[in-house]
Amino acid sequence: MAGPVAKELDSDSLHEYCLQEFQSEQIATLLNTVSQSLVGIESKDISALSFLHSCKSGTGFQAVISDTKHGAQYLRVQQGTQTISKNIAKELKEGSLWLSTPFRSAFEKVVLESGKLEIPEPINALEYEWSKQEFFLGSPCPASPPRLMSAASGDALRKPFENVHFVGIETALEWKGYMEGAIRSGDRGTAEVIAALWY
Ligand SMILES: Cc1cc2nc3c(=O)[nH]c(=O)nc-3n(C[C@H](O)[C@H](O)[C@H](O)COP(=O)(O)OP(=O)(O)OC[C@H]3O[C@@H](n4cnc5c(N)ncnc54)[C@H](O)[C@@H]3O)c2cc1C
Repeated sequence: MAGPVAKELDSDSLHEYCLQEFQSEQIATLLNTVSQSLVGIESKDISALSFLHSCKSGTGFQAVISDTKHGAQYLRVQQGTQTISKNIAKELKEGSLWLSTPFRSAFEKVVLESGKLEIPEPINALEYEWSKQEFFLGSPCPASPPRLMSAASGDALRKPFENVHFVGIETALEWKGYMEGAIRSGDRGTAEVIAALWY
């Protein structure tokens, strides 16, 4: 991520930034509470740039803490968010959705039907139980520690690697950390793949 003050904001944690900028333990404590509730981690674990970028991606601090119209907490799905995917699934042609199917066999079926691509053999497969990973802090929103976002590799998350394209909330530039951002990143990835396949 580039910008005139990006490197400076990314050099410290949000906690350090508050102490230096406002010289106030109270403001630092307040922002720690905001970081815990918004991003899900302590302000010492997120860079000031990453925190501010999350707020900006949600159209501003007021909007991300608000449950009024246009605020992040405005709408709730009464029956749970799975209702959305279940209803979208109902719109699809019968047989076009495979659930609980390993990615490779689903992909093979598509390729066999379209006869377009060869599937390379996987080099390796790794399986994790996230809840047992020591360094996963468990926040609901993506967050970067100091000096990651402004590094040369900071934008690498969104860059395709050969035929592999990356989507997901971590790659979103708008509403990063929210379902809105996840859907928008899916739109971007879909457009990339369509362009790569057909042009
Ligand atoms: C506790 C909590 C509360 C939240 N509250 C809200 C809210 O109120 N409003 C809001 O807008 N957003 C909220 N969010 C954020 C929102 O849920 C996420 O931003 C969104 O779900 C991200 O979508 P995604 O498609 O990027 O990733 P995910 O929804 O995480 O989907 C990724 C999928 O990939 C699967 N997967 C991972 N690795 C592999 C693999 N190797 N092979 C196969 N499959 C794999 C995972 O099982 C998962 O199903 C909340 C998140 C949490 C955790």
